[in-house]
Amino acid sequence: MPTLFTRIINGEIPSTKVWEDDRCIAFRDINPTAPTHVLVVPRQEITRLDQMTEADEGLVGHLMRVATLVAREEGLNDFRVVVNNGAGAGQSVFHLHVHVIGGRSLSWPPG
Ligand code: AMP
Repeated sequence: MPTLFTRIINGEIPSTKVWEDDRCIAFRDINPTAPTHVLVVPRQEITRLDQMTEADEGLVGHLMRVATLVAREEGLNDFRVVVNNGAGAGQSVFHLHVHVIGGRSLSWPPG
């Protein structure tokens, strides 16, 4: 079964895309937690961060770089990049994704 995010990548489920390349896409979170809340998602289905292999290092680095490019396009100087790994850490979609969150003051530590 394709993941929810693969279905978004394939255009079966609508999304508001802000970035697209041969390795990943980025689209606005449907339930934003801040004025900017974008998800950067690899086309390759990796269930969660701790399932990445050495072969995925370049891809994961690319996701991080795209996160910064999206933040720049959003006009953000300060922003947060989050990966939830596992249900106990808040992961609800089991297709690796990087949250880019900004546009308001962000407290630390997160909940
Ligand atoms: P996580 O809880 O870290 O797995 O993040 C999953 C994120 O996907 C949540 O912030 C959801 O709001 C978001 N989300 C779920 N369904 C959609 C959708 N159809 N389009 C955009 N974002 C979604």
